[in-house]
Amino acid sequence: MKRRMINVDRKRVDAPSIDDSWRTPQILDALGIVFFNKCYLCELKYLNPDDFQVEHFRERASNDELKRDWSNLYLACGNCNSIEPKKAWNGGYLDPCADEDDVETLIKYKFYHGNYDNPRFSPASPLPNIKTINSVNLLTRLHQGHNPNTKRKTASLRELINRRAKKLIKTITLHQQALNKNDHEAARQNETQIRRYLSRQSPFTMLMRCIGSRYNYAYLFD
Ligand SMILES: [Zn+2]
Repeated sequence: MKRRMINVDRKRVDAPSIDDSWRTPQILDALGIVFFNKCYLCELKYLNPDDFQVEHFRERASNDELKRDWSNLYLACGNCNSIEPKKAWNGGYLDPCADEDDVETLIKYKFYHGNYDNPRFSPASPLPNIKTINSVNLLTRLHQGHNPNTKRKTASLRELINRRAKKLIKTITLHQQALNKNDHEAARQNETQIRRYLSRQSPFTMLMRCIGSRYNYAYLFD
C-alpha cells in the first residue's frame, strides 16, 4: 500500500452529488471519511467534518466545472485555508490523491534537535521536482508562518503537535521500560497505544512517524 501525507483513497466512498453548493452535509461527510477528518495539509483532526472548509485543489476561478468536480474537493482547516497563498505557486503542489505524487516518500519530516513545536520539512531527493519544492515551502509556511500575523496564527498548531509528540515519546518510554522489566501486559498495552499514535487516522501522522521511525517503531505503521 502506498503511504502519503494522508493516505487518500477517494474510492472509499461513492461520489456525492454536487449541485449549487460544494459544502453540503453530504459532501462534508464523504470528505470526512476520505481524509479521516483531517486537514489534508497540516493533518489537524476534528471530530466533526463540519469544522473544516472545503478547498478546491485546482484553482476554480477560471473553470466552472472544477467548482463541482468531486475529485477537486479537499478537506482543509481554516488556518491552512487562510494562510495558503491566494494563487498557487508556479509549478503547483504535490497532490496527495494522485498516484504519481507519493508525499510520504518525496518529503522528509523532522524535528530539529528535539524541538517538537518546530517541525521541519525538506525534499527527500537531492534533485526534487518543482512540485515537491513548492509543497515543502507551503508546509513550512503553514507550520511556521511567514509574517508576524501568521507566526501567531500557527502557534496553536505547533503547540498541538508538541503535546502530541511528547505523549508519544512518553508512551515509547513506558513501552521500553515494560520490555526491560518483562512486563508483557504493560508492553502490549503501550504498543497498542503507540500504534494508534502512528496510525494514518490519527492527527499529524507524518510528524509522529518521524519520531516512530527514530525509535524503530516503523513496523507499527498502517
Ligand atoms: Zn491545516
